[in-house]
Amino acid sequence: MEAPIDGRSGGRTSIEALRTEALTCLRCPLATSRRNVVFDDGDATADLMILGEAPGEEEDAGGRPFVGRAGRVLDGLLEGINLTRSSVWVANVVMCRPPNNRPPRVRDEIAACSKYLDDQIALVEPRVILALGATATRRLLGRGTLSGRLDTRPKVGQVMVVPTYHPAALNRANGRWGQVREDFEAARTRLAK
Ligand code: URA
Repeated sequence: MEAPIDGRSGGRTSIEALRTEALTCLRCPLATSRRNVVFDDGDATADLMILGEAPGEEEDAGGRPFVGRAGRVLDGLLEGINLTRSSVWVANVVMCRPPNNRPPRVRDEIAACSKYLDDQIALVEPRVILALGATATRRLLGRGTLSGRLDTRPKVGQVMVVPTYHPAALNRANGRWGQVREDFEAARTRLAK
């Protein structure tokens, strides 16, 4: 998929208006199984955006992104760079939970949500986006590889994209923590410039 960040916000003037619209969205089949639309969390004026894949069961129940185990991991990673949930902007590629937490489908589900995500990015204007996992990376950069992290740039605008592993893919055995911490540090360093 092409890089979606186009700097336009679909004529919408505020995140609140966009959220109100999204909360009643019926654009894809996930609308029939979701409990809540999970639009965002954190500070809508933040310079750092955290982009995940899709809500899981706990997020669907509570209406906020990253409140389950992956969210606790995310909070720890943010703490490691002296940030908190309330000082960053958190969103997902799709706003409704796919059944059984399967990956969202590109053609209908990700496509249906894309105007919301594009508008969110255009309205919040983050300087850096940490793309958590392959779905978020592919959505922003058109490819899912996590290699070449610090050389990757989005195709439009000034937003730096830092792809990294999804918190759900981190465990004691797989040795990815060091890389993820480095990626969070890289995002933090970029914010300081
Ligand atoms: N995983 C995600 O990608 N997003 C969430 O909100 C929760 C888990």
